[in-house]
Amino acid sequence: MKDIIIIGGGPAGLSAAMYAGRAQLDTLVLERQFQGGQMMNTNEVENYPGILETTGPELSGVMYEHAVKFGTKMAFEEVIGLEVDYPIKKVITTTGVYETKTIILAMGAKPRQLGVEKEQELWGRGVSYCAICDGGFFRDKEVAVIGGGDTAVEDALYLSRLAKKVYLIHRRDQLRAAQILQQRVLASNVEVIWDSKVTKLYSEQTLTGVEITNINTNEATDIDIQGLFVAVGSIPATGLVKDLVELNEQGYIVAGESCETSINGVFAAGDIRQKELRQIITAAADGAISVYQAEKYILTRA
Ligand SMILES: Cc1cc2nc3c(=O)[nH]c(=O)nc-3n(C[C@H](O)[C@H](O)[C@H](O)COP(=O)(O)OP(=O)(O)OC[C@H]3O[C@@H](n4cnc5c(N)ncnc54)[C@H](O)[C@@H]3O)c2cc1C
Repeated sequence: MKDIIIIGGGPAGLSAAMYAGRAQLDTLVLERQFQGGQMMNTNEVENYPGILETTGPELSGVMYEHAVKFGTKMAFEEVIGLEVDYPIKKVITTTGVYETKTIILAMGAKPRQLGVEKEQELWGRGVSYCAICDGGFFRDKEVAVIGGGDTAVEDALYLSRLAKKVYLIHRRDQLRAAQILQQRVLASNVEVIWDSKVTKLYSEQTLTGVEITNINTNEATDIDIQGLFVAVGSIPATGLVKDLVELNEQGYIVAGESCETSINGVFAAGDIRQKELRQIITAAADGAISVYQAEKYILTRA
């Protein structure tokens, strides 16, 4: 029986693997795809302390090496079921069943897309789903943010300090963001375009502009932008646990800084957890904390 099974090999899972290995806990990471998670879709990373500039795949490779350096094993299998009874929990994968004392859920999330043609091919070439990650690459450029919630408005305000011009495009006639954010954005130099959605992306290697269509009048207008920041939510990978652990309204696992879920011995780390900021560094921090808590649980309960 394992001490810890970590589900997901993104930065949360890899950091947890490294901490568990150093704590000499018998640990297995199960990853359905490849190590690195969302980092593998990231061209440039320049906000992970100690590493001035790298690519997502490069950082994934180094984190993987670090994760297995102290003895943690990683298997490339998709987890399809869980039994979270006390004292032995079972993790069912496409190829077998593992028994473990504790589980760390680190299955991450993915950004919700607009569903416009060329969106996928321009991801990383003008289309971004993370203003904090990619905003720095659009200094003095013209950009648009899509959405009307807190994230979209915060992103627009953040980008207005970097970019030459920021549009906020929203499909309704009012924003959903907190009042204070609405006041700030409406008083700023961000230009809000109401009742509109993006209907086309224009490009020459990278994004050069978008067509927006007014949903009331059907009138289409082109605007020249080099960056499009899509902030219409993200989808947590909680399908596996939706009937097991408590989730919040957006589908994220309810777990505080201790990473403890509503089930004893089951912890949530990284983007899958309810939190304010979803980044590599916060995912890695959760990985460390969840192992610390799992170790305490094993010593006292398991
Ligand atoms: C385009 C883009 C650019 C970004 N740029 C930056 C940046 O520059 N700086 C920054 O700090 N952050 C950036 N982020 C955010 C950062 O990548 C995430 O916050 C971070 O990857 C979250 O880590 P995680 O380990 O929680 O989840 P993820 O990275 O999502 O990893 C989860 C892993 O779990 C696996 N998994 C899911 N379900 C199962 C299952 N059932 N069985 C087995 N495995 C499973 C997945 O395959 C995946 O590998 C970016 C995100 C995106 C999308």
